Amino acid sequence: MTAALRRTPEKVLPAEADWTAAVEAIRALPPTATVLLVCHVNPDGDALGSMLGFALGLRRLGPYAVQATFPGPLEVPVPFRGLPGVDLLVPETEATAEPDLMLCFDAASASRLGSLTDRIGRRTIVLDHHASFTGFGGIHLVNPGAAATSVVAEELLARLGVPLDAEIAECLYVALATDTGSFRFDVTTAGVHEMAARLLATGIRPGDISRKIFDNRPFGAVQLYADALARARLEPAVAGGRGLVWTYATLDDLAKHGQRPWVLEALIDSVRCTEEADVACVVKQVADREWAVSMRSKGAVDVARVAIALGGGGHKLAAGFTGRGTADEVIMTIRRELDP
Ligand code: MN
Repeated sequence: MTAALRRTPEKVLPAEADWTAAVEAIRALPPTATVLLVCHVNPDGDALGSMLGFALGLRRLGPYAVQATFPGPLEVPVPFRGLPGVDLLVPETEATAEPDLMLCFDAASASRLGSLTDRIGRRTIVLDHHASFTGFGGIHLVNPGAAATSVVAEELLARLGVPLDAEIAECLYVALATDTGSFRFDVTTAGVHEMAARLLATGIRPGDISRKIFDNRPFGAVQLYADALARARLEPAVAGGRGLVWTYATLDDLAKHGQRPWVLEALIDSVRCTEEADVACVVKQVADREWAVSMRSKGAVDVARVAIALGGGGHKLAAGFTGRGTADEVIMTIRRELDP
């Protein structure tokens, strides 16, 4: 790749010494080693895809005991249940307490790992691509210029000499397609398409994968979206006149339509297309007075700054945090950050 195509200065890319340390830590594992892979709470396509793709690669590398997990109940969103490597998932309660090596995927801060944070230490390799990465763990393979954590995972597999096969490729492709908005966002560099080409060369079928991951929802989810979109609010004056559009969904909404929380992951995509607003926001109830907040920007507003100020993290154009109180109170805290 030419220098002109690089999105970030060299100094923020993983240092060569960190790549070497990661490769050596993995190569030094005895055959009897237990390796624990973890990704962030409420895992998305990049978290699960990069973790499971790498887990399958480790399997090809040695006879290690490989466990993969994430915090909370082991409920894999339905679109990802068919991913290769899901058989390596264990509930966090069954995850080994003292792994010989731990690898973290797509988590910008230790808080995103829930109770699994107690295993983080010197022998922890972090693969991530968030500019808001807080610096936990022992070896940092963090590239804020990478479109997805799977970009980092693919490079580590290559440096370990693990060839791509169709199973690994499907996982990494799901991760890449998810975080690039199906190759629509500006993170979609020439390098992203080159990686996609390497993955497709294994024979995976992008149409089949996209249909399973993005275009496959229960009818109840369609009706739930209708309810949530009907109550969307447009506030053109917010964010210095750049505009805010937002809506919310409650646990009662999910119950009414017999749906699980994962179906709400794509709701932000239906809200953010609003022409009159630069900032879009979806507030999803996870418990009494507790909300998972997703924010998107078209470019004029840095939503990562807002999310970090409210205890979360993310990227300039896509970020999130946990909100407390009523949905209206959560939106009020966002308005205050958008117009300080
Ligand atoms: Mn990601």
